[in-house]
Amino acid sequence: MKELFEMLYKKSKSEYFIKLSKYLDNNEKKFIITANPETFKLAMEDDEVYKMIKNEANDVIPDGIAVVRGARKLGIEVDERIAGIDVATKILELLNNKKKTLYLFGAKNEVLEKLKEVIKSEYPCIKVLGSSHGYVADKDKIFEEIVSLNPDVCLVALGIPLQEKLINRYIGKARKGIYVGVGGSFDVLSGAKKRAPKIFIKMNLEWLYRIIREPSRLKRFYNNNVKFMKEVYKERKK
Ligand code: UDP
Repeated sequence: MKELFEMLYKKSKSEYFIKLSKYLDNNEKKFIITANPETFKLAMEDDEVYKMIKNEANDVIPDGIAVVRGARKLGIEVDERIAGIDVATKILELLNNKKKTLYLFGAKNEVLEKLKEVIKSEYPCIKVLGSSHGYVADKDKIFEEIVSLNPDVCLVALGIPLQEKLINRYIGKARKGIYVGVGGSFDVLSGAKKRAPKIFIKMNLEWLYRIIREPSRLKRFYNNNVKFMKEVYKERKK
């Protein structure tokens, strides 16, 4: 598993945001993977996920604090957590400043509609080329449309690993653009769900807040994190 940690972006969030800005200025093509314990656990079980993390062309950012700590335990210095929601927010800010284009794919229809309203009022210079809620049967068809529209950024909020697998399948066909799987970020950006209070974020307890708000997350958290920690300790003993 250590080889997966090696792929993480290791510098600070502010340095990463400068990179994001440059990608947009240069019309680069980029697949961003927001890595948390679930991502690494899946990579151990699923070759497709493993390969996309190992692919040097992709950016793997440390979305979860457990990933940052796990890396450090294995002697890999990762500067700080870079939350997927922060990446999504920064992207909206950059797109607005640069007057660039966006496609939104995922979440429930009412959440998506709310998010489009938020973008219209808070990021008025972003041109939304298109959008689709995440419960359509034929998700490949949506991706074919996205690739043909050629947006500067495509945010995909379908949950892991579906969002990453779709991006991985279509990024080769895209001419440009940042493609990023943002999980539950549309729920927060639209205002449908609240992000954890700042104190939770500062204390690296955002995961705990999400479990308190949605106890159904506990099983998923337990299954992923216990297996993840076991792997980290196994690796440490090597
Ligand atoms: N989702 C979707 N289509 C699906 C399954 C899920 O659009 O078929 C959306 C769901 O509405 C939510 C997001 O994907 O907005 C997944 O959010 P979750 O909080 O589970 O992701 P996390 O941030 O925990 O990775």
